[in-house]
Amino acid sequence: MLAEEKVYTLITANSQADQFRLAALHRYHILDTPACEDFSFLTELAAKICEAPYAFISLVDAERVWIKSCAGMQMGELPRGESYCALAVLGDAATEIPDLTLDPRTAHMPLTVGEPHMRMYSSVALTSSDGFAIGTLCVLDIKPGRLSDDKRAMLGKLARQVMALIELRANEKTLEATVRELELLATTDELTGLHNRRSLLHRLKFEVARARRFRSPLSAVMIDLDHFKKINDDHGHAVGDQVLTTLGKLLRENVRVIDVPGRYGGEELCVILPNTPLEGACKFAETLRAKIEAQIHYASGRPLHVTASLGIGVFDHMDVNDIESLLRQADAALYRAKHGGRNRVECGT
Ligand code: GH3
Ligand code: MG
Ligand code: MG
Repeated sequence: MLAEEKVYTLITANSQADQFRLAALHRYHILDTPACEDFSFLTELAAKICEAPYAFISLVDAERVWIKSCAGMQMGELPRGESYCALAVLGDAATEIPDLTLDPRTAHMPLTVGEPHMRMYSSVALTSSDGFAIGTLCVLDIKPGRLSDDKRAMLGKLARQVMALIELRANEKTLEATVRELELLATTDELTGLHNRRSLLHRLKFEVARARRFRSPLSAVMIDLDHFKKINDDHGHAVGDQVLTTLGKLLRENVRVIDVPGRYGGEELCVILPNTPLEGACKFAETLRAKIEAQIHYASGRPLHVTASLGIGVFDHMDVNDIESLLRQADAALYRAKHGGRNRVECGT
């Protein structure tokens, strides 16, 4: 159908219909994404098939038209009011304007009156799966004219390919986000928000390999809460859980980004300290011990204090040079901290 004959369903900018259309566009997360060869290929193909010097994949945003890909000239985006495509998304699936200087909606537009003096515009809407025109695949020429039926039909087929590619990219993004979310769930302990035991040991394996390879220092701090059974017995398991949650947060907030805080088991926590020799690990453990002691918990509105005993294992590249010996050393130190009166830090064997 020709533009002059068309009765437009006017989806004006900021109208409610346009808000739905924009929501559909934004769901694809395609705006401002980097250039991509697959889209360029389809744009070039459109120009070639239609024998037009210019082709664009345009997405009509609230205030601008963002160009995903272009053939014949470079263009990033332009104001919505200066784009032929913004008109196209307001109307039918296909829009053709044989002479842009003769159409009152386009005669004044910068690309018509200025370089490159566009004359012919033909586009097919990119229609979302829920039926909204989010943009167009269009071809333009500096000569007035019309596309043949064959060419227009091919442009329509290419537009469907563009839309399929947009859908594919969006699905890939969703999948990546889901995988990331699942990875996080699989490696995080629900109660404390720390690495779970499996993830902690996995990271320890990695850090041990790295310490060996680069002969770098590595320490592990084992933390066991003092008389935790009594907290459960006196105040209930839920209060015990709450204490663990709070300590998880404390740990997360007091480690460096390269450190790995995890829940080793029950009320036993562990922090892997890459690139940290004994001295640094002792300082860290003592600071942590003091912070755990200073933290106030609440049971039925009454303040509750919890302490912890900490044991440090240090990779020495000799006796302590694998995961087992490192954890054994930290455990032995923890045992001594318990027997030395609790609420204290012990280092090494
Ligand atoms: P110690 O000072 O010798 O460590 O005394 P303790 O009572 O803390 O002894 P131990 O470390 O052996 O006890 C661990 C207790 O921690 C047993 C268990 O009831 C409790 N616990 C382990 N996991 C959880 C949990 O997820 N939630 C709660 N509320 N309690 C837990
Ligand atoms: Mg314990
Ligand atoms: Mg304990």
